[in-house]
Amino acid sequence: MKVLKFGGTSVGKPERMHSVAQLISDAEPKIVVLSAVSGTTNALVDIAAKLTKGDTSAAEAAIEQLFTPYAAFVEQLVTTSDAKAKGHAIVKKHEDIIRSYVNASGFGDKETRLFLAQGELISTQLFQTYLEEKGYNSVLLPALEFMKTDADSEPMLGYIEEKLKEQLEIHPGKHLYITQGYICLNHQGEIDNLKRGGSDYTGTLIGAALRLEEIQIWTDIDGMHNNDPRIVKRTYPIPELSFDEAAELAYFGAKILHPTCIRPAHIRNVPVRLLNTMQPEQRGTVISTKSTDRDVTAVAAKDNITAITVKSTRMLNAYGFLRRIFEVFEKYKTSVDMITTSEVAVSLTIDDDKNLVKIIAELNDFAVTEVDKDQTIICIVGNFSKDRIGASKRLFDALEQIPVRMISYGGSAHNISVLVKTEDKNRALNEINERVFFASGVLS
Ligand code: ASP
Ligand code: MG
Repeated sequence: MKVLKFGGTSVGKPERMHSVAQLISDAEPKIVVLSAVSGTTNALVDIAAKLTKGDTSAAEAAIEQLFTPYAAFVEQLVTTSDAKAKGHAIVKKHEDIIRSYVNASGFGDKETRLFLAQGELISTQLFQTYLEEKGYNSVLLPALEFMKTDADSEPMLGYIEEKLKEQLEIHPGKHLYITQGYICLNHQGEIDNLKRGGSDYTGTLIGAALRLEEIQIWTDIDGMHNNDPRIVKRTYPIPELSFDEAAELAYFGAKILHPTCIRPAHIRNVPVRLLNTMQPEQRGTVISTKSTDRDVTAVAAKDNITAITVKSTRMLNAYGFLRRIFEVFEKYKTSVDMITTSEVAVSLTIDDDKNLVKIIAELNDFAVTEVDKDQTIICIVGNFSKDRIGASKRLFDALEQIPVRMISYGGSAHNISVLVKTEDKNRALNEINERVFFASGVLS
């Protein structure tokens, strides 16, 4: 059995849902995970925010705007009057749930989470209605019956495995299961979610829990590219990636995959395949434990980075200085991404600058600081193990004309990071593409 996850744009229009149905029409057993129709979760976030502020009339207008197009969606999705009536009733049921909170007092986090769950509940039921009309032998699996997080908001893989197996046993003779991405119950038994973009995570959790043969993530791009195709022209999909490389790229900005979702697949060694709904015949990218022999694999960029240099004349031959610095970041629960050191100073980067003012004030008690905002981390992923040569030269050549604020090499064998001003990012990515990737002889 495989698990296939389809994102918001893949189910964003009735005809897209028809294509998904086509893609899953063979007899192979599968679990299909769906996101909400694209735009729905954003709209729900917005409605919940308006109600939290007590802005009832704005919320009502936003509810109207979200649900009106669903009528046409249903009309185009299915053909028979029975199926249409069923589709409209599904939408109405969830719209009514939302509307019942418009005048409720004390709208807060719990209600917001309930709202956010409605998108996936709607999309899966509409899709199931279409499949039924088409005569598919499919069944809906309610994600809230098996997807659960613990007190640290971490998915409980053992629990998911047990409950999911129970759910599958309820339906003997079925081989096509449809379920909601993103939504779960939390440790208090309340409706919650796996954070924005979390449908990928649902897919990998299901694949890992059941130790399936493959996890497929279907999006609208033909796999993970070696560089950002929105910024750089000559990019190409990477046929094979290791779990470590994929995790690094997802974290550093490759939008195609939810950064933490690789973990369960890696733990249980289930390969993840990234595929394109628009071009299903393309091979996409397979992420697995297999390592490859390339020197450079891909580059990704992460914006909104703040660089901080912490200087102390007393650092010369001093110990304890680094500890003091990092204690400040720990105190403000701010994680540090890049670090470079010299004898008298340390430079580091953070992406969450919520507590920047306080952090700087505390650092200034024992050091001199310098802050640069609007920086971008460019992360080059590949095989840079100790005995390999060549990649760093090509990288420095590519950055010849670009001011570099920090370089971090050797932290792991598969990552070189450089920090540049965000305004130089596009130029850097293009130069790296031509001079590191295409000049490597891998491609020309
Ligand atoms: N619908 C959710 C979101 O937009 C989850 C997902 O699509 O992955 O964040
Ligand atoms: Mg997504």
